[in-house]
Amino acid sequence: MPGLIAWVFFRKNWKKAWLIIVFTMLVDLDHLLADPIFDPDRCSINFHPLHSYWAIAAYGAFVFIPKLRIVAVGLLFHMLTDYIDCVW
Ligand SMILES: [Zn+2]
Repeated sequence: MPGLIAWVFFRKNWKKAWLIIVFTMLVDLDHLLADPIFDPDRCSINFHPLHSYWAIAAYGAFVFIPKLRIVAVGLLFHMLTDYIDCVW
């Protein structure tokens, strides 16, 4: 999936984009600050600091900064998948 996103949005250097998108999964490290660390019934969105609406708004702004664009898309995609997990 990250490979597909990278290829669709950043075809020119999709390998680099893929690496960065995989790297954005590190934002889940903020789960380690939570107690308990893992709770299947909890929605990460707006619970963890890097999954708050403020953080998501910042990621949205990063899209307009060329150097941060790949990271921003990766982060937004991460939030989307976490959000889909919540809806389920
Ligand atoms: Zn997450």
